[in-house]
Amino acid sequence: MEHVKCLIIGSGPAGYTAAIYAARADLSPVMYTGMEPGGQLTQTTEVENYPGYPDGVQGPAMMEDFKKQAERFGTDVRFGYASSVNFSKDGSEPHQVTFDESVTVSADTVIISTGASAKWLGLESEKRLNGHGVSACAVCDGFFFKNQEVVIVGAGDTACEEASYLAKLCTKVTMLVRREEFRASKAMQHRVENTKNIEILYNTETKEVLGEKAVEGVKVFNNQTGEEKVIPATGFFVAIGHKPNTDLFKGVLPMDEVGYLKVEEPSSRTGIPGVFASGDVMDSIYRQAVTAAGTGCRAALDAERYLAAKETAVEA
Ligand code: NDP
Repeated sequence: MEHVKCLIIGSGPAGYTAAIYAARADLSPVMYTGMEPGGQLTQTTEVENYPGYPDGVQGPAMMEDFKKQAERFGTDVRFGYASSVNFSKDGSEPHQVTFDESVTVSADTVIISTGASAKWLGLESEKRLNGHGVSACAVCDGFFFKNQEVVIVGAGDTACEEASYLAKLCTKVTMLVRREEFRASKAMQHRVENTKNIEILYNTETKEVLGEKAVEGVKVFNNQTGEEKVIPATGFFVAIGHKPNTDLFKGVLPMDEVGYLKVEEPSSRTGIPGVFASGDVMDSIYRQAVTAAGTGCRAALDAERYLAAKETAVEA
């Protein structure tokens, strides 16, 4: 069985940043990309809020840059998804991760950067116009809708936060709430209720996002009366929650009720020595490329220090 010092699972900003740091620390990292090499950013178009790109950059191109930088220092990047794990509970034995249900790699340290996926409504029109007016991240894409009218779906804290953010940029924000009440905290709810250019439509769901090449409006229906109407909009934001990609670690690593991995903040340590977590898989709040990259750096530094402490203990 192949043995490595540092195994990285996942290839978003967190995974690649961990790889850059681990490679430069001579840990010869091996990265398995997962089914979506580059992660969520490969699904976006223009990224304008990542420092270092003064003119903005396309999400997929940015992830190519991350990859090149990680490879420049010797990261071995491989395509494959982790299908099962066998972690040594106290870190006394190497950890094992199986990829594609066929190849098992043993590792002194494992950095989990498997990310999270935005939940979608599941409409054909939503999928077709994704990146052309449909987005699951107001902070990432709101700017493109400056002085325009947008619609946002959701009634949790994220939807309220994103609606407030959009209201500062857009002329009008229509918020679609599927029940007759919010799920969000009262404070967040009051904030949107008290914002002049946010209109809240209760008991309202999306029938279709309208437009051929770009969003032109949203057809909605009242789930009590069946009444339909079209809301003119150039942006359609979906804020109905995220799902961390952690099914693999259920019953193995500590996680919260939604499935986000718990780490010993401010470190990236999970409950198992030698296993670290970084990026959206452990962050339900910020979910930005730059914050994910920051936690990837932490994970690599933690892995390096963990190995150094282990070596010192053996020498002593
Ligand atoms: P939540 O799961 O809290 O809310 C999801 C919302 O989306 C719910 O209102 C739900 O409606 C709605 N929804 C789900 N599916 C659909 C659908 N198919 N059509 C229409 N609406 C749908 O997710 P959040 O991302 O808002 O929050 C996740 C966690 O992060 C929460 O614990 C939250 O408190 C926390 N958070 C905290 C923040 C803060 O404190 N600043 C900021 C952001 C998040 P319904 O209510 O009917 O189920």
